[in-house]
This record gives sequence, C-alpha cells and structure tokens, in this order.
Amino acid sequence: MNIIIFGPPGAGKGTQSNFLIQDHGMFQVSTGDLLRNELKKVSELSKQIKSIMDAGKLVSDNIIYSLIEKKLSDKEIKNKIIFDGFPRNLDQVSKLELMLQKHDQKISKVLNLKVDYSILIKRLSGRISCSNCKKTFNEFFDPPPSNCCQKQEFIKRSDDNEETVSKRLKTYDNETLPILEFYKKQNKVVDIDAMKQITEVRKEIRGIIAS
Ligand SMILES: [Zn+2]
Repeated sequence: MNIIIFGPPGAGKGTQSNFLIQDHGMFQVSTGDLLRNELKKVSELSKQIKSIMDAGKLVSDNIIYSLIEKKLSDKEIKNKIIFDGFPRNLDQVSKLELMLQKHDQKISKVLNLKVDYSILIKRLSGRISCSNCKKTFNEFFDPPPSNCCQKQEFIKRSDDNEETVSKRLKTYDNETLPILEFYKKQNKVVDIDAMKQITEVRKEIRGIIAS
C-alpha cells in the first residue's frame, strides 16, 4: 500500500517514516530527498534544478511532479511508497491523484500525526545542539547535561525561533490541512496521537498497517 505520512512540522513524520522503512520495507518519497538525489546525477533536469537553486528560487511544482512520477513508474517500489512532506496543498493532491491513477496505484491510508501546537512550538523552538559534539537537546523536554563536552556552548538554528515556527504552522493550517478533508471523504485518514512516546507511536502505526 501507499501511504501519506501527514502532520505539522515537528510532529515526527521523518522519524516514523524511517520506522515504516525498517518495519515494512517501504520506500520514502520526500521532495527534499528527490531534489538532493537528482542533483547528484548528471542530467538536463539536474542542471535545471541547480540553476534555480543557485538563484535562490523555489523549484517549480512541475519539476517536483516529474521527479515523483519517476518514482511512481519504478516497479521495484510500486505500492510501497510513503509520501513525506508531499502533497503540501490541494493542487498537489489533484496532480498526485492523476499520476497515481496513470500508474495504476492509489493512496491507501493517510496517517495523521496529531500534536498540540503549544508542544510543537516548544519542540521546534527549543532545539539546541552542543557546539562541540553536535549532540541535539531540547531546552524544554531534554535539557543538556551540565557536563556535555565541558564547554557549555549550545547553538540554536536561526529558523528555530518561536516566530518562524508559528509562521510555518499558520501556512500548514491554511494550505496543507485542507488535504485531510479530501482524504477524509474517502475514509482514508487515521488519526494518531503523536504526543505519545516515539516507540508507542511506532507500535500504533505497525498495528494500523497490519490490519
Ligand atoms: Zn557535547
């Protein structure tokens, strides 16, 4: 089956995708990885992507679609795909549905990772890492030990502040959340409490996939 792992930034989509790969031999399709992999190749498309990114512009949906269609036509991963971070809006859903049809596939389930926004903001804006060993911590949930590398210098990524995080959540509400309604009408959405322990969430997803 093909799955969309769905949820706001910081809900743990990447972590749970990795578990799906380990537990069920699935393949993750995320736009970031698709772009990075294409850039490693020597191709017309790769040249095109490079020049767009060098110019600091966003890669167009059409380029993303052609990369995704390549994956959909790959027999080795047919009906074993986890979509992570795509689709992001209803336009992308329409296009994805058309491409799936063309390749005789469908989305079977949308796993909706639910987390309170107040917790997401703390998860994302609290992220810090040790400047020496690069180990990551969270100021709220996982404070660093007092003896981490003795230096006691911790770095925060500049886009991990509360204002940026709130903005990302607002974009998610306005553009991405409507996707759920589309798939709810098809009875494909399964809500998952993603505030539980990571391993608990993994178990729950395993049960859903097995049923
Ligand atoms: Zn350290």
